[in-house]
Amino acid sequence: MSQFYAHRNKEKNTACELCAQPGGALLWQAAEYRVVRVDEPHYPGFCRVIWNAHVREMTDLSPDQRQWLMAAVFAVETVIRQLFAPDKINLACLGNMTPHLHWHIIPRWADDRHFPEPIWGRVHNEQAIARPQIGDDVLARALQRALGSASAVSL
Ligand SMILES: [Zn+2]
Repeated sequence: MSQFYAHRNKEKNTACELCAQPGGALLWQAAEYRVVRVDEPHYPGFCRVIWNAHVREMTDLSPDQRQWLMAAVFAVETVIRQLFAPDKINLACLGNMTPHLHWHIIPRWADDRHFPEPIWGRVHNEQAIARPQIGDDVLARALQRALGSASAVSL
């Protein structure tokens, strides 16, 4: 069992996907949150920053916790911009389907499948080709440099 939920049992919701699963390929974790890569070939570099405890809204966090989480989101955004050079970054905190606090950091390109809609919207470009992937090891090392290495997971 991964430590991100093993030590958080008292705050775990057994019906919640993000309490039961990492939510993507685990790239980095701290005690409070983790960073995962989403398996979506059309959007390489698509990451989620997930608060480890089962919390619904940003305003359920203390002011300090909100700042830590947003600092992580911005650090991940910076790494994605450096590695993937997207035309735009989309930040999204929805949670309508999975009400466990998490942020999506999504690289977008003007010729991607859904541009200019959100990636959950209508497909505008059926011919969009999948972009080159960058390995999880490269992404994880860049995140370690951006977020600090003390709590890094080893891949
Ligand atoms: Zn949860």
